[in-house]
Amino acid sequence: MEMRTGGVKRGVADKAVLAALFLALALWGGLPLRRHRHHDIPIVKGPGVTRVFRLSEYSPGLKGTTADTFVFELRGREPGGKALLIANTHSNEPEGMLSAIIFLENAVVEKGTLYIIPVFNNSGSRATRPGDGYPLYFDIATDWGARRFRFGNRDASPLDQWPDPDVYIHYPDRQLLSYIDVRNTNRTWPGRADGPLMERVTFGAMELMRREGIDVAIDIHGAETMFPVTNCIVAPESSVRIATMVAMTVKAMEGFENHVEPSPAGFRGLSHREIGDHGPSLPFLLEAPIPFLDQPTGPKTVEFLLDGKDPFLLSLSAKGKLFVPYDESGWPIEKRVGQHMSVCLEIFRQFSRKSADRPIAVSGVPRYADVAENGVGRYLADPSKAAPGDIVMN
Ligand SMILES: [Zn+2]
Repeated sequence: MEMRTGGVKRGVADKAVLAALFLALALWGGLPLRRHRHHDIPIVKGPGVTRVFRLSEYSPGLKGTTADTFVFELRGREPGGKALLIANTHSNEPEGMLSAIIFLENAVVEKGTLYIIPVFNNSGSRATRPGDGYPLYFDIATDWGARRFRFGNRDASPLDQWPDPDVYIHYPDRQLLSYIDVRNTNRTWPGRADGPLMERVTFGAMELMRREGIDVAIDIHGAETMFPVTNCIVAPESSVRIATMVAMTVKAMEGFENHVEPSPAGFRGLSHREIGDHGPSLPFLLEAPIPFLDQPTGPKTVEFLLDGKDPFLLSLSAKGKLFVPYDESGWPIEKRVGQHMSVCLEIFRQFSRKSADRPIAVSGVPRYADVAENGVGRYLADPSKAAPGDIVMN
């Protein structure tokens, strides 16, 4: 009898120790994630920014949610065409966000209007990929110190949109997509005002394009080196001519490859398909190679994220398994951001040549060679030097 009581007591004590250990582990793992989710990054309004508003102005169902996000308007000195830049559709592809921030911190719009959404999937940018050992932040070195950014996930956080369905039935085509795509803002286009939260995000952008009469919409990404749709401009029939001119021009004038991939008509929910089918804009989706996203690599460190150097990819490249050239120099962030800058500027130029009555002319931003030579940090503003009214916490 006594022995049994002692056993029960020991059992309770063991359980208490285990519960305390479990709680300590949950806090140790959970607190950094909570801090990351609530860590806003400062974006400095550059000389061209004329207005900052939230996407919920165009999609009221986003109001008060973590998915609501900022839109920066850069109205030009002269009227003209209108372009929309979308970045961080996938928040683990930071070259898009960095390009968008370079635009909105530096650009002066001479003709036309630019709209820029630097963190399109705001919820995804405040999440991480479970089990992949992703860093939560990355720093870009500048002349005045490091500037810190959140590194997020491809999909929205389940804290903001949950539960997932068994299959995601795309609206309006009713194509059956993977359950996870209901949280992927490059599968939820064109979206609905009262759909799942990520549909309300894409719906907001569609409404912006429809109501403002946006001519050109550019969705900026990064893609694996082992995935065939990489280092390219994805374009549907309506924008393929401009995309082809852009690809030829950057190759001839700036010396980098960026081939054109036709947008498949049968695959629904993607920006480069639905934007053109449901609104007035010519869609373009840009992909730069991001070795960090490939599966057979070493640890997912910040250094690897930024320099794109990996010994496993190097040996796979020698076996012809990659879809881009790859050597010891990796695929540094300067090259990836530089390509995006030049391709965006060239899309504006080619569009303006075709539509002379709706020109889009932007100055004050670097092109490929500038970013490749000087680094990304050279073109990022110092938030500590900006007037408080010029900082937007995103
Ligand atoms: Zn992407």
